Amino acid sequence: MLQVRNIEKYYGSKNNVTKALDRVSFEVDDGEFIAIMGASGSGKTTLLNCISTIDTVSAGDILLDGESIAALPPRELARFRRERLGFVFQDFNLLDTLTLEENIGLALSLNNTDPETVQRRVREMAARLEIMDVLEKFPYQVSGGQKQRAACARAMVAGQSLLLADEPTGALDSKASKNLLEIMTRMNRDMGATILMVTHDAYSASYAARVLFLKDGRLFHELLRGERGRPVFYHEILDVLALLGGDVSDVI
Ligand code: ADP
Ligand code: MG
Repeated sequence: MLQVRNIEKYYGSKNNVTKALDRVSFEVDDGEFIAIMGASGSGKTTLLNCISTIDTVSAGDILLDGESIAALPPRELARFRRERLGFVFQDFNLLDTLTLEENIGLALSLNNTDPETVQRRVREMAARLEIMDVLEKFPYQVSGGQKQRAACARAMVAGQSLLLADEPTGALDSKASKNLLEIMTRMNRDMGATILMVTHDAYSASYAARVLFLKDGRLFHELLRGERGRPVFYHEILDVLALLGGDVSDVI
């Protein structure tokens, strides 16, 4: 589905250049659940922003279904973003003045989808994500976990196939994190969502089937879960983090 080919990203101008990504290449198959790990400043968000077309690469290419996204005209790019991509952020990015139901359905409503269809789609997603009982509430009236599940529902409600999540568990306590990760696993397994999740947390990453490790903008290592259970995978991830740079607790 997605090919990242030798991408580089520089920020700044001549005398003050930051190399945020350095010749990063990997491929994502349809239906994969991938975690991207690395210390703060290692380029995780930059990588996600380049894939999501929020940012552009300085060199290299990103292909979606064989087509270079850099070559897409602006209108096609906007359509690609709207129809194919769903976003989830650490701080939820829900609109405070809308109910969860309205937040989830907003893109569909703006798209002139008829209200009955919007309602049906929103409720289907809400049922899967276990937030039916809070749909009428406003973001400030629900828990962080419920907000993030609403954000996931919003991200996929229009049939988007690629979920890009930047630290989705970053603002959640451990119980809500576990719940969200189980729901993301179901979105991946039962709804066929392809997921790219940035996280600095080994526990969160252990829910993925593959983990990519970034260090100083370069792809440092990759781990595949294979047939191993999640707890075993978790410990392997911790081992790589230790190799990546000193104390595991530094990797935040
Ligand atoms: P991470 O998400 O892994 O913490 P980022 O992708 O945010 O890392 O940042 C990678 C590097 O690029 C860092 O050195 C950061 O300071 C730099 N950087 C990120 N965004 C910008 C920007 N808009 N302008 C300048 N430098 C940036
Ligand atoms: Mg980041």
